Amino acid sequence: MYKEVIAHIRSLFGEDEAFIPLHAPWFGGNEKTYVLDTIESTFVSSVGAYVTRFEEMMAELTGAKYAVATTSGTTALHLALITAGVQPGDEVITQPLTFVATANAIAHSGANPVFVDVDRDTMGMSPGALRQFLDENAAVRDGQAINKHTGKRIAACVPMHTFGFPLRIDEVQQVCSEYGIALVEDSAESIGSYYKGRHTGTFGVAGVFSFNGNKTITCGGGGAIVTNDEAFAKRAKHLSTTAKIPHAWEFVHDEVGYNYRMPNLNAALACAQLEQLPAILENKRELAEAYSAFFKESNIELVRGIKESLPNYWLNTVMLENMEARDAFLQETNAQQVMTRPIWRLMNKLPMYAQCMHGRLDNAEWLEERVVNIPSSCRPGRGNIAITRKITDFVSQKL
Ligand SMILES: *Cc1c(COP(=O)(O)O)cnc(C)c1O
Repeated sequence: MYKEVIAHIRSLFGEDEAFIPLHAPWFGGNEKTYVLDTIESTFVSSVGAYVTRFEEMMAELTGAKYAVATTSGTTALHLALITAGVQPGDEVITQPLTFVATANAIAHSGANPVFVDVDRDTMGMSPGALRQFLDENAAVRDGQAINKHTGKRIAACVPMHTFGFPLRIDEVQQVCSEYGIALVEDSAESIGSYYKGRHTGTFGVAGVFSFNGNKTITCGGGGAIVTNDEAFAKRAKHLSTTAKIPHAWEFVHDEVGYNYRMPNLNAALACAQLEQLPAILENKRELAEAYSAFFKESNIELVRGIKESLPNYWLNTVMLENMEARDAFLQETNAQQVMTRPIWRLMNKLPMYAQCMHGRLDNAEWLEERVVNIPSSCRPGRGNIAITRKITDFVSQKL
């Protein structure tokens, strides 16, 4: 039934028979050089020039004033929530259609996740659903949003840019500011994605990125927080380094901290990958265009994002007619060694989050039955893949 789709995906990747993964990393620049450099210098751990350089590059890329490197996207989210003032017993609003790490980070901070619906076209948090939920359930007292039913404070809101497609983040930000709720963007999937010309992750008090193995670019494992708030950046960094007061030899810590700082070894890989990002993004956009031309002629809809947005096309996404069609598509493509994957099971359906409060989730449920990701790796040898910047001089200077 989906023979033509499978043949077309195979032709796009130039693979007649081999397994085609959903998203493979690509290391075509200074990755080996920088990683070896950390080993030769012995600075492989939580101190080193690559960590600082990576933070500078993240700030430059996103246009945020500050960046703090972390061990993962999950720890970046956890740290951002704590730094934004989330306390045990608070509530944090997020979307039910997300990777589990979003909800887990909220739970790690001791808060309760609350789920509001997404928009169908962005697959990200719906500003309309957020406003409706708050209008019905929240009251502002002393500048803070209180859930009228539970009596708990709604401390933060964590929307997520699904598969790199930006959501209507300016409208979500507007609702949050009316209710005195801190906005922390889960931009784990949206490095290189822009909304109305602004990089995702820069609309709230903080934005969070992930560099896990299957993301657009990877450093093995790692994350970053970006913010324009100097005090926020300083406190997040302090908490990420065991809340140790800087001193040449003394070990004094002034609160319960975390060991969440990205090691220099990973940061070296991250710097090399960031250098490649423009070329990787261009390559991925070419693939998305090729998919677009193909699916236009078929009865399968390819997700393109909304016109105000420039997605990174991390994972190309199709919408099948219904759940039966989706299951047949998944079955046939995977049987033919072309990897495809359904969207996540909704958070409110997982055992640990089944008791969480939520609004109407019609769009999330509609999408859950239809959305499938198709192979989206960047394709070296096709289109433009080249080293765009060199930082070797800078780094050896600092070491
Ligand atoms: C990948 C991801 C994370 C977590 O990042 P890790 O680096 O894997 O901890 C968080 N949120 C979303 C939406 C993600 O896709």
